[in-house]
Amino acid sequence: MINRIEKIYSPQDPGVALKVQQGHFATPHSHVTHYFDLTTLRTRVSEAQSAARILASQWDKSRPVDTIVCIDGMEVVGAFLAEQLLAASVPSMNAHETIYVTAPEKNGQGGFAFGESRIPLIRRKNVLILAGAITTGQTVRSCMDAVRCCEGIPEGICSVFSALRRVSETTVYTLFTAGQVADYRSSSGAECVQCMAGKKLDATVNGEGYFCLRR
Ligand SMILES: [Zn+2]
Repeated sequence: MINRIEKIYSPQDPGVALKVQQGHFATPHSHVTHYFDLTTLRTRVSEAQSAARILASQWDKSRPVDTIVCIDGMEVVGAFLAEQLLAASVPSMNAHETIYVTAPEKNGQGGFAFGESRIPLIRRKNVLILAGAITTGQTVRSCMDAVRCCEGIPEGICSVFSALRRVSETTVYTLFTAGQVADYRSSSGAECVQCMAGKKLDATVNGEGYFCLRR
């Protein structure tokens, strides 16, 4: 690791923390000044449960949810979020009056797809997309395309961190915003201030983690 990791605690629950590392990172669609390590939040059961509780409290309860589609390895949080939304009597339109939790597959072209066996979870279903960190929104947009391709209805987006309030006119409910991360900046590689200053990249990062380029 290049720089020290700092924690930003959720104002709603100090048991939920965003681990932040400052530096010069390339995401699949931009260059950013901060990397968010979501490993603990999405794997420690107590923290994942608390994160889900906050997201459920933000969700507009009139919006139906049949299926939660998780990207960035958010399935544990997704399961707890389903539990919380059911407990809050969020409407579901499926025959079993429950919520399904699933994840898309990578389509090999940087986008997503749903295998044959998962299509019934998406087709004509109200879908909540649960993401880790949203910077440009491009990855979530690709996921929404895959949902729409299977005739699913994207109802909303939840995330741990988001620099955006909406993606393609769909509301983002997030635990942490860019305003909570001092000096956060995301830009295209061509407009990146750190690149212009000749600063080398510390790592490439994506929804799966951190890939160190130098030590
Ligand atoms: Zn750069």
